[in-house]
Amino acid sequence: MSDKPDDTRHEAPGDEAPPGTPGTGQDLCRHCNGSGEVNGGKCPECEGTGYVIEGIGGG
Ligand SMILES: [Zn+2]
Repeated sequence: MSDKPDDTRHEAPGDEAPPGTPGTGQDLCRHCNGSGEVNGGKCPECEGTGYVIEGIGGG
């Protein structure tokens, strides 16, 4: 497993921007706490990846 963001995965519903977008980074999915699963099924927010893309920096 790599600890680098997987910029090749397609956009998940919980993403603020498509993976690989400049100025964004991956963050732990709060919906599943990074497990990628909710109630025994794939997390709908991160689509089972355990993380979502969020904007970083700003301000
Ligand atoms: Zn999730």
